[in-house]
Amino acid sequence: MGDRAVKSNTESLYKWIFRSFLKTALVPFLIIELGFIIIYFSTSMWSRQETINYLHGEVENEMNQLVLEKSSSLQVQLDSVSITADFLKLQFKKALEDEVKVNRSYLDRMAMTSNGMYYSMHDTVDGGPAVYYSGISPIGDAEKSKVLKLLGVGSVMKDIIKVQSLASQVYINTYDSLNVIYPYFDVISQYPAKMDIPKYNFYYEADLSHNPEKKVVWTDAYLDPAGQGWMTSAITPLYSDDSFLEGVVGIDVTVNTFTQQILNMDIPYNGYAMLIGKTGTILALPDNGESDWALEELNTHHYAEAILEDTFKPENFNLYNRVEMEGLSEKIAVEADGNGEIILQNAKRYVSWSTIESTGWKLVMIVPVDSVFAHLENINNQLFNIGLFMILGLIVFFIVFFIILSRRAVKVSNLISTPLVSINQMVDKIRNSEYFQTPPEFPVKELQETANKLAYMGEALGIANNRLINTQGELKKNEAELSAVLNSIDDMIMEIDSEGNLINLWNKTDNELSLVYAQSSLVNIQSKLRKQGKVFKDLIDEILISGLNETIEYFISTEKGIKWYLARISAVDGESRKLVISARDVTLQKELEFSLIESKEAAELANRSKSQFLSNMSHELRTPLNAILGFSQLLLMESTESMDESQVENITEITNAGQHLLKLINEVLDLAKIESGKMTISLEPVSVVEVMKEAITMVRPLAELQNIRLVYALSDRQESFVIADHTRLKQVLINLLTNAIKYNKVEGKVEFNYRSNDNHVIIDVIDDGMGIPFDQQDLVFNPFHRLNMDNNFNVEGTGIGLSVAKQMTELMNGRIYLSSEMNKGSHFSVELPQATVVAQDDNIVLANKTNLMKYDSYRVMYVEDNIANLKLVKRIFENMDNVDLVETQQGELATSLALETKPDIILLDLNLPGIDGFEVLKRIKANEELRHIPIAAVTAYAMNDDQQRIIKAGFDGYIIKPIDIQLFIDEVHRLLSMKYR
Ligand code: ADP
Repeated sequence: MGDRAVKSNTESLYKWIFRSFLKTALVPFLIIELGFIIIYFSTSMWSRQETINYLHGEVENEMNQLVLEKSSSLQVQLDSVSITADFLKLQFKKALEDEVKVNRSYLDRMAMTSNGMYYSMHDTVDGGPAVYYSGISPIGDAEKSKVLKLLGVGSVMKDIIKVQSLASQVYINTYDSLNVIYPYFDVISQYPAKMDIPKYNFYYEADLSHNPEKKVVWTDAYLDPAGQGWMTSAITPLYSDDSFLEGVVGIDVTVNTFTQQILNMDIPYNGYAMLIGKTGTILALPDNGESDWALEELNTHHYAEAILEDTFKPENFNLYNRVEMEGLSEKIAVEADGNGEIILQNAKRYVSWSTIESTGWKLVMIVPVDSVFAHLENINNQLFNIGLFMILGLIVFFIVFFIILSRRAVKVSNLISTPLVSINQMVDKIRNSEYFQTPPEFPVKELQETANKLAYMGEALGIANNRLINTQGELKKNEAELSAVLNSIDDMIMEIDSEGNLINLWNKTDNELSLVYAQSSLVNIQSKLRKQGKVFKDLIDEILISGLNETIEYFISTEKGIKWYLARISAVDGESRKLVISARDVTLQKELEFSLIESKEAAELANRSKSQFLSNMSHELRTPLNAILGFSQLLLMESTESMDESQVENITEITNAGQHLLKLINEVLDLAKIESGKMTISLEPVSVVEVMKEAITMVRPLAELQNIRLVYALSDRQESFVIADHTRLKQVLINLLTNAIKYNKVEGKVEFNYRSNDNHVIIDVIDDGMGIPFDQQDLVFNPFHRLNMDNNFNVEGTGIGLSVAKQMTELMNGRIYLSSEMNKGSHFSVELPQATVVAQDDNIVLANKTNLMKYDSYRVMYVEDNIANLKLVKRIFENMDNVDLVETQQGELATSLALETKPDIILLDLNLPGIDGFEVLKRIKANEELRHIPIAAVTAYAMNDDQQRIIKAGFDGYIIKPIDIQLFIDEVHRLLSMKYR
């Protein structure tokens, strides 16, 4: 069994349990968890993105708002500066147009340098403007009075500085390079001597070509020659009434002021604002913007020397030209406000700008994107961390779960596998024939039950095995016995199915038939039997239905010739539809039988030819013999007187010899007839007394001649009937009586009697003669056998009589037997079956008397040679008053009697002496007058074929002998009804 065990795809219980745990718990768990984590991360990412989008919009809005707000607030401030500048211009204009209003002493603090520069040497006590008059043009009184006029505005200038917080300096520059400026500073140390002021931006940017509208304009950031560092100015041209540009009035605002302004702006997200000039120059850049742009704001300037021309911020301060701004600078330059994004220092920034209309400046707000989303990122990071933590937690959980699971699997597998191992061991033990096992105790109920059942099974197996061993022993013994038996018999035993297919075969090994089956590949007996197969199959079917045993003889042609088998076939009990055949080789017997049949047939043929020959001979002899006998009798009757005694004696001798010869011929003829099967007998009830009387009549003359006494007592005896042929029985009895007389002693006697025994009647012929020796008692019944005794030769005889008598008796279903004692006599007995019909007929006849009563009167003609039958029929009709029976024993007389008596129906015995019944029928039917009469055959031929022959011959019905009275009456009735139909 071990060899058959399936080895592949098996695994340990532990692995299996663990794997199922994994499959059913861990893996789905893991998958679900992973799913959740994925969902968690993707939703957080999604929400982050959504928030970013949302925040982006929000921030843009917020920045737009803010930048607009801030720029407009700047606008307001700048506007106020512009207004102030206009106001100051008007003051200066008025002063220039008016007379000098101030005291000449104002010029006291003025001095003229050698190179023609006219300047203020020091400030006034209460603070006043500084004056510089460039030495490029000569300064005369007119110029000095212009200085005085302009100084008249000094107090206004002072006030402006007081109220205008943005303003750091206020001044006027004239076309001839006079600069009056407040607050005071030491101009000689600051300005060069021959400064051409209209060449500076804070002058020409306001001239007609730059500022045709003559309004206040704001300069770009420039380095202040007055030593205030970087600044921007609101400048406005001062035209005289005849539109001569007298000078430019300006209010300076230091860049630093804007820077401070911007710094003070509260920009969210760590952002900052920048102020950009019209051409893109960064006017103000707060500290936190410097690193972004890698710039340092030019807040201060070291005036090591005088500023000889206008000085602007360097090129890299121009925002529009910065590479970082590519793509956005045009937009900023063109659009009044808007948003954008740039990368600064590798970080993304949101940019919002707004235009200060009066100056054309832009307030640009920069916010690092990072800081916008810093909080969001922070939250995201936290969420991510939570996610990571979850994963970590899961991993830890799974590791713990895995360990617990693994331990659990070990435990469970141990729980199961330990008992299983025990069960396996039990199985192994049982397999090794240790059938009786005690099951160990297990904690698992099912396994315990399995073990218990295994133990029961083992026990049952053990018991069964013991039985098997016993049975096997017995079987072996039986087998040995069976094979001994089989070897001892020549029969071959086969088992077949209902189709004739061989299932099993038991026999002696050298059995001829088995060799035939073994040599042949055919295992179907039916096909092996060829033509006999059909019969065989039918027999099988019959046996299967009836369940009875049958025997069949069949042959098979083998290499050694035809083999005959006698097979007894019987069905096997039960539903199996199998049969057992025991076939015996009967070839030898069969061959013997065939040779016997052959020789018998040959003998019979020879015998028949002999009989035929004898019959022919007898016939040929009888014809001349009849003539001899006839003529010798005529001679005796007619010529007795004319012949002498010896002649009469001779003729008598001829007659006797002829008679003897005729007897011989007749007997030979009978014998021949019997042996050739041509002897016909008609069995019918025969009255024993009647036939005995007839026999006595026949032999009496001989007995008297021999002086033998015949002893019989028949007249007072009750009638007995036998089934026999009347004539033949009489012949047999005459034969026996003749012998008894012939072979008797002088003055002996012959007893002639009959007796009943069971269903038989025995007729005895007993003489006092010489007897027959015991060894001859069988032989005397052989044809032509005569006893070889002294006096025997004197007795006339042929040796045929007894043999004819014996064969005739046997033809009549009877037998002859002999008992004899030498010199005491012989006792021949003829035993025949008794006919019982007559004894019981009276009542039946009477009972049926009425059957024919409804007809008036009838005449029935009966042609019958048998006395007993005649008597019986007479008795039947005697009881019927209206039936008149006419009868004859001779067929030849039938026609004339019928013509004479006109019977209603005719009953005609078939077996008549002379012409037979068929001939009589022919003659009656040939007669016009008689043709219509219904005729029934009365016959002992009871066979179906015979009945067919009778009806075919033209009979209207038939009555079977021995007569059954009821059937007889019925038939008569039917015939009568035919007549009267
Ligand atoms: P047959 O009488 O013509 O010789 P059977 O066949 O009748 O021929 O008899 C055969 C022989 O049997 C007789 O020849 C005779 O020897 C013997 N036999 C027959 N009947 C008797 C008898 N009643 N007593 C003695 N012998 C008999």
